[in-house]
Amino acid sequence: MIDLHTHSNFSDGSDSPSELAAKAHQLDLHAIALTDHDTTASHDEMAEACASYDLELVPGVEISLLDAAFPRYLDDTTPVARGVHVLAYFLPLDVQHPVQVQLARLRQDRAERNVRLVARLRDAGFDRLTLDAVTSRAANVEGVGRPHFAAAMFELHPEIVGERTPATWSHVFADWLGASGRAYVPKTTLTLESFLDAAKGSGTVFSIAHPLLNYLPDYSVTSIHEQMPAILASLRARGVAGVEAYYGGTTETTRALMVKLTRDAGLIPTGGSDYHGLFKEDVSLGVGHSGDLRVPDEILDELRAAR
Ligand code: AMP
Ligand code: ZN
Ligand code: FE
Ligand code: FE
Repeated sequence: MIDLHTHSNFSDGSDSPSELAAKAHQLDLHAIALTDHDTTASHDEMAEACASYDLELVPGVEISLLDAAFPRYLDDTTPVARGVHVLAYFLPLDVQHPVQVQLARLRQDRAERNVRLVARLRDAGFDRLTLDAVTSRAANVEGVGRPHFAAAMFELHPEIVGERTPATWSHVFADWLGASGRAYVPKTTLTLESFLDAAKGSGTVFSIAHPLLNYLPDYSVTSIHEQMPAILASLRARGVAGVEAYYGGTTETTRALMVKLTRDAGLIPTGGSDYHGLFKEDVSLGVGHSGDLRVPDEILDELRAAR
């Protein structure tokens, strides 16, 4: 069993890389990828900890990019490029490399988004919320993300968002922070194509994170059958190698369907839990949301072969 999608406190997870590696070792994972958002700053600590356990580490990152090929609609007639999360494995770690230059740009976009998001929330009545209050919940200033906003909103404004539970946490994203939320501020300005271009020849292998969350938020089997094949074909044509078909937030039935469609499209079904520690209390390392996620070791062999 392996887990190719996890977060540390270098982005919006709560465990340090060392704590994460220790948990992966206890679980007896055969390999892990640490895929912090828009940064590989966590790699060195993770590599050292994994080496001490003889646990294989796959270098990785989760990037926020725009896909204009499958827009989302602001209303019946206004399309905008869709923000999607993309996992990149075996990427160059040298800060001079064009891939890392693009990551630095994404972190800058994130910082600017965070300033605008604070302003929108304050205008909407979260007047005790400040950028400092949000940032103080993150271990890495460059890794501040919406879960840190959510945590601050619960602590400072329970009269608006209620007491923090997994259900109210989801509501904060639905009502305020998510793409349909009242305070949503798009973060990404880079396109999928431009990022893939920067990575040409570098051996980086791309897989689309949580494809349903990105492309079909209703998750229904009918929508998957109707819409996913065209999405997968387009992703493959644009140079993406895999899709996260074994996603820890979906049911076994959905995963099996996604694995089949991914294979049919000639893509690698990758997998991971999207573990965030206390920032996603209902998701467990390795085994995901419902506890029955099992990502086969062989998937990693396929990813390696795609370098
Ligand atoms: P950001 O990187 O700031 O755009 O925040 C993205 C992160 O917010 C994701 O990786 C999740 O951890 C979290 N997130 C996004 N949407 C939701 C949601 N609907 N429910 C819970 N967490 C979410
Ligand atoms: Zn996250
Ligand atoms: Fe994600
Ligand atoms: Fe993630």
